[in-house]
Amino acid sequence: MTSPDPSGPTWGEGGSTPASAALLERARTVIPGGVNSPVRAFRSVGGTPRFMTRAAGPWLWDADGNRYVDLVCSWGPMILGHAHADVLRAVAEAAASGFSFGMPTEREVLLAEEIVSRVDPVEQVRLVSSGTEATMSAIRLARGFTGRSVIVKFAGCYHGHVDALLASAGSGVATFGLPDSPGVPPSAAAETIVLPYNDLAAVEAVFAERGDQIAAVITEASPGNMGVVPPAPGFTEGLRRVTAAHGALLVSDEVMTGFRCSAAGWLGLEGVPAGGAPDLFTFGKVMGGGFPAAAFGGRADIMAHLAPEGSVYQAGTLSGNPVAAAAGLATLQACTDDVYRRLDVVAGTLAEAVTESFNLHGIAHRIQWAGSMFSVFFREGEVADYDDAKDQDTAAFGRFFHAMLRRGVHLPPSAFEAWFVSAAHDDEALEVAVEAIHESAAEVASGEREGRP
Ligand SMILES: *Cc1c(COP(=O)(O)O)cnc(C)c1O
Repeated sequence: MTSPDPSGPTWGEGGSTPASAALLERARTVIPGGVNSPVRAFRSVGGTPRFMTRAAGPWLWDADGNRYVDLVCSWGPMILGHAHADVLRAVAEAAASGFSFGMPTEREVLLAEEIVSRVDPVEQVRLVSSGTEATMSAIRLARGFTGRSVIVKFAGCYHGHVDALLASAGSGVATFGLPDSPGVPPSAAAETIVLPYNDLAAVEAVFAERGDQIAAVITEASPGNMGVVPPAPGFTEGLRRVTAAHGALLVSDEVMTGFRCSAAGWLGLEGVPAGGAPDLFTFGKVMGGGFPAAAFGGRADIMAHLAPEGSVYQAGTLSGNPVAAAAGLATLQACTDDVYRRLDVVAGTLAEAVTESFNLHGIAHRIQWAGSMFSVFFREGEVADYDDAKDQDTAAFGRFFHAMLRRGVHLPPSAFEAWFVSAAHDDEALEVAVEAIHESAAEVASGEREGRP
C-alpha cells in the first residue's frame, strides 16, 4: 500500500499515540498497570497499549484515530466482526426491555437449547458470566460428584484465573513471567497435578499412583493459550479411557474453541472419542458475542448434582443476563456454514502470507491449526507441548508485532496466542494485513541482519 488513506492507519515509525499514552498514564493512577487484564498492558512486547474508541466489522479505531485490522477479535468472541447488525439489533431489543431481572427468562432457555443442540454430548448447561466462572464451577461439580479433590491439568493450558488452575497456565501467565501466582495457597495448588501436554504416559503414571483421589482431568479441547497446540492423534481418546477406568471425570474446556473451530467447537472437528464424550464442557468467548456470558454443561446425571436439584452450590446475580444472552444467541444463530467457510478463507490467506514472506526472509516459523484457529510460532519444528512453545524467538515476535501495529494491524500482544479472525474480515482488511505481513517480515529480517535487539 503506497498512499495511505487519511482515515487509515498511522504509518510513521512508532505510530502516533499521544492520546493512548495520556490515557495510559491516567489509567495507571486508578487501575493497577492501567489495564483490567494483564496481557493488554503490552508488557511482553513493550510500547504503549492502544486505547480503543470504536470498532466495526474487522476494524478497530484507537483514541488517536488510528485504524487497525483487528486480529485479536476480543480474544475470540467477535467471530462475526464488530457490531454485527443482527447482534446489535438483538442487544438493543433486549436492553430496551430491561437490563437484568434476577429472575428466569425465555432467552436463557433459548441460549441453552442452542448450545445443547450444537454439542451433542451436552445435555444440560448452566449459564455463568465468564470462562473463569465456568471452569471453577465445573471443577467444583466434578469434586462434588466424585467426592474426590485432586485435579489434573496440563502445562500451558489456561482455564481462567481459578486458584487451583493457575499453575503453569500458558499465555497470560507465561507472557507476564509469573510461573505461579502469589496468593494461591499451597493447599489449593497441592490438589492440582500439572502434566506435560500430549503426554499420555505421564497421565497413565499419575493415575496408576493416585487414580482413586483424582476427581477430574481438565484440558483445553485443543489448546490455544500456549499458541495453538492440537491434541496428538489418540490423546483425547487416551484421556477418556484413563479417566473412565479410574472413575474420574474428563472436563473439556472449549471456552476458546467452542463455536469457533466449528459449529460444535473442537468436538465437531475431532468427533466424539472412542470410549465416549467428555463428561463436562465449558464454553465462553463466542457464545457471549462480546458480552459476559459463559456456560458449563454435560451429562444430565452429573448436572443434577448442582443446586437447587443437588447439593453442589453455584449461583450468579447476573448469570443468564438478558442482554448478554441475547448477544450470545444472536451470535450463535448467525454462525452459519458460510461464516465458518469465510473464517477458513481469512485464516488461510493470512497464514499463506506468513509462510511466503517468512520463507522469503528466512524467519524461523511454524504455523499450527485447530480448524480456522491458528498461531505462528517463531521457531521451527512441531510444537507438541508448553516446553516446545516456550522455545521460540519471542523477541522476533515482538519486533514483528510492532512492525504490524505501525502498519495498522493489531495482533495479540503475545507470542503465545492464536491469531483470531472474523467472518467480517473482507478483502480490504485482508489486503492491508497481507501487505503488512510482507513488509513486517522484511523489516524483522533486516533488523536482525543489522543486529538490532
Ligand atoms: C479465555 C479462556 C478462559 C477464561 O475465560 P474468561 O472469560 O477470560 O474468564 C478459560 N479457558 C480457556 C480455554 C480460555 O481460552
